[in-house]
Amino acid sequence: MAIWLKRGAAAESKAEADRKVRDVVEAALADIEKRGDAAVREMSVKFDGWDRDDYRLSQAEIDAAVDSLSPQERKDIEFAQAQVRNFAQIQRESMKDVEVETMPGVVLGHRNVPIQAAGCYVPGGKYPLLASAHMSVITAKVAGVPRVVTCAPPFQGKPARAIVAAQALAGADTIYALGGIQAIGAMAIGTETIDPVDILVGPGNAFVAEAKRQLFGRVGIDLFAGPTETLIIADEIGCDPEMAATDILGQIEHGPDSPGVLLTNSESFARATMAEIDRLLEILPTADHARKAWEAFGEVIVADSYEMMVRIADDIASEHVQVMTADPDYFLQNMTNYGALFLGNRTNVSFGDKVIGTNHTLPTKKAARYTGGLWVGKFLKTCTYQKVLTDEASALVGEYCSRLCALEGFAGHGEQANIRVRRFGGRDVPY
Ligand code: NAD
Repeated sequence: MAIWLKRGAAAESKAEADRKVRDVVEAALADIEKRGDAAVREMSVKFDGWDRDDYRLSQAEIDAAVDSLSPQERKDIEFAQAQVRNFAQIQRESMKDVEVETMPGVVLGHRNVPIQAAGCYVPGGKYPLLASAHMSVITAKVAGVPRVVTCAPPFQGKPARAIVAAQALAGADTIYALGGIQAIGAMAIGTETIDPVDILVGPGNAFVAEAKRQLFGRVGIDLFAGPTETLIIADEIGCDPEMAATDILGQIEHGPDSPGVLLTNSESFARATMAEIDRLLEILPTADHARKAWEAFGEVIVADSYEMMVRIADDIASEHVQVMTADPDYFLQNMTNYGALFLGNRTNVSFGDKVIGTNHTLPTKKAARYTGGLWVGKFLKTCTYQKVLTDEASALVGEYCSRLCALEGFAGHGEQANIRVRRFGGRDVPY
C-alpha cells in the first residue's frame, strides 16, 4: 500500500501547459521555415534581447572566452571534460562492429557509422549550463562525428563566457550564440547563414524539448530531454531528512516546472524531510524557482515495501533516481524505468550533472520507459550489410526467398531471387 502525503499538479493542468508550448513551437518553426535568418533574428531579439547580423561566434570571441577563465576555472572544466571523454571512450570501445558467417557462404555484418553533422544544444536561459557542452560536444566527437555545431543562448545579454569556453574546449567546430526554438529550428531546418545538421541533441526547457520533438523525422534527435525531474528513494538507514531535502532542492532549483518526488517507507522520515525542505527554502539562494516547483510539482509518497517502491518508481519513470536506502542495489537489480541511477548517499545527482563522467542529458516525461540518456551510441548508426560468397549459398537462400515472396504476392521480389537460383543454382523455382 502507498499513501501520498503531498501530490503534484493535476494531469489536466500539465496537459494544458504542454498544449500551449506545442502551439508556440509549431508557429515558430513554420516561421523559420518560411523566413530563415529574419525569423531567427526576430525571435532572438524577442526572447533573449540579443541582436546580431551573424550569430556565429568569431575565433576572436571564442579565444576571448577561453582566455577569460581563471586557471582554476579552466582546470575544473578540463577535469570534468576528461571524465566525460574517458567514459564515452570506454562506451565507444564496447560498441563492436560485427561480421559473421551465419551459414556456409553467407556473411552478415554491421558497422557503427558516425552521423555526419550534429547540432548540440547547451541550455542557458536561467543558468549558464556549461556542463551540457561537455555532455554533447565531447560525446559526439568521441563517436567520430566530423561536424559538430553547438548553440547556447546569450546569458544576461551576451554570450556566456564559461559556456563558450566549454564548447570550444570540448572540440566544437562551430559555435552560435542562439537559444531556444530559434537555435533548434535553425540547426535542423537551416537558414541562409546556418547549415542544417543531421541530428539534434542536448537538454533544454519545455520549448527546446518540444521543438526537437516536432523536428524529429526531418532530423534525428537524441531523446526527449526537457525540464529536470528528480526522484529520491530514501529510508532512515540510507540517509537523513536534511540530505534527502537537500537533494530534492538541488534539482528543482532548475526551474518552476521541475518535479521533485520523495518516495520512502517511513511516514516520520517523510514528514521530517518535508519540514527540512520548508526550512532550507528559507535560505536557498535559488529558492524562487525551487519553491514554485515544490508547490506545483513536489510529491511525497510513503510505501510499505521495497517491492511497492520499485513499482511506483518505475511508473514515475523519472529522469534522475537517487537511491539512499539500506540496500541501494535492490533498486539497481529491480528497477527498469529511469534515466540514471545514483546509488547510495556518497554520490548524488549533482556529481552526475557536472563532473563524474556519466552523461547528464537524460529522458524526461516518462521517456525513460523506452530510452536511456545521451551516449556515444546516439551518434552512431548501426548499419547492416550482407555478402553471399558462393553460388550454392545464393541458390539456397534464393529458393527460400522465392517461395516466401510468392506467399506475399511479390512477383518482382520473387524474380530477384529466381534469377539467382537460375544463374547460380542452374534450376528454377516456380511461383
Ligand atoms: P534554455 O536554454 O533551455 O531555454 C532558454 C531559451 O528559451 C531562451 O533562449 C528563449 O529563446 C526561450 N524561451 C524562453 N521563454 C520563451 C517563450 N515564452 N516562448 C518561446 N521561447 C522562449 O534554458 P532554461 O530556460 O534555463 O532551461 C534549461 C532547462 O534544461 C531546464 O528546464 C532544465 O531542467 C533542463 N535540463 C534538462 C536536462 C535533461 O537532461 N533532461 C539536463 C539539464 C538541464
